[in-house]
Amino acid sequence: MIGSDTINSMRLHIVRIPARATHSHGIGDVSAVNSVILELTTAGGITGWGEASPWPAFSGTVEANAAALHVHLRPMLIGADPLRIEQIMARADATVVGCTEAKAALETALLDIAGKMAGLPIAELVGGRCRDTIPLSFSVANPDFEADLETVAALWADGVRLFKMKTGFADHRFDLTRLEKLRGLYGEAIDLRIDYNQGMKPYEAVRRVRDLEVFRPTFIEQPVPRADLAAMAEIARVLDTPLLADESVFNAREALIGAQMRIADLFSLKIMKSGGIRRALEVAAVARAAGIGVYGGCMFETGVAHLAGTHLMAAVPDLTLGCEFYMSTYYLQEDVLTEAFPVREGTVVVPTGPGLGGEPDPDRLGRWTVERLG
Ligand code: MG
Repeated sequence: MIGSDTINSMRLHIVRIPARATHSHGIGDVSAVNSVILELTTAGGITGWGEASPWPAFSGTVEANAAALHVHLRPMLIGADPLRIEQIMARADATVVGCTEAKAALETALLDIAGKMAGLPIAELVGGRCRDTIPLSFSVANPDFEADLETVAALWADGVRLFKMKTGFADHRFDLTRLEKLRGLYGEAIDLRIDYNQGMKPYEAVRRVRDLEVFRPTFIEQPVPRADLAAMAEIARVLDTPLLADESVFNAREALIGAQMRIADLFSLKIMKSGGIRRALEVAAVARAAGIGVYGGCMFETGVAHLAGTHLMAAVPDLTLGCEFYMSTYYLQEDVLTEAFPVREGTVVVPTGPGLGGEPDPDRLGRWTVERLG
């Protein structure tokens, strides 16, 4: 019943989980997942889980997001009705600027509690699922390309057909060689995408991305720095290949500006950029109004955030390009979830249990926790 329960405890588990391999990107390397796992418990004994997964070079830091929750948001959360999600998120926005990853964690934990109260999965709480499975994309980002070829072969055997090559961290020839190799090995059966993670200067970008079009990528993602909207618009205009904006579009306001300037044909949705599932649905709504397609993105996350992202992507009516929730299955040395994040035959299976449909295992969470707050 509404108003019948209150949040009475909040605990943060700061985790650091090594990856199986370093992944390189236009803005830097990543060798571990650093996240804040949020545990909210109600007086009635219901526990909600969420995750904040910042990357300092992309969105923010673990330290700032942990402090946002532990110091600045805790006072307004303790004693609050967990079903007043929009009111709580509006107060969180008024209390702490930015820290969208912390807000994603908070919204996820509140939706997890609401779902457990209602006996419904989060996807149903935010509009209802439009699909039961989502094609999974893996990021080809190991600077040791021979090792990456072995990984791609193993994932291919698992049924994965979407592969996003991270480019722009070494020289241009290295990118062309790798794309040629993958297209040559797997022919038309591989769905190839390219992501520069802002790795090029605007003056060099047009000529280089034109070189890549011969490999028929499904899209080319964020070739230039996030604030270079004019360069994004120019690249989108001259390319035949669809251009995807990731770092340039965090929220609905940036989506609106991006749509007005036609900076891209596609936007990447991420709960860590927008500050939660429903804010990401606002980005999707702006994209839909502008005739811009959407893609299921993520940061460097454990299975907790992957589950939240999966509920979002399940509820987006016009998601056609799949999702990239591969970390739990193919990147982390060990995930924290009790049951393995659901990946079958190259697709993510949308959970059907109440709330998130999964939760951390206490032993696994403890093994990778480097600091606990609250
Ligand atoms: Mg990206």
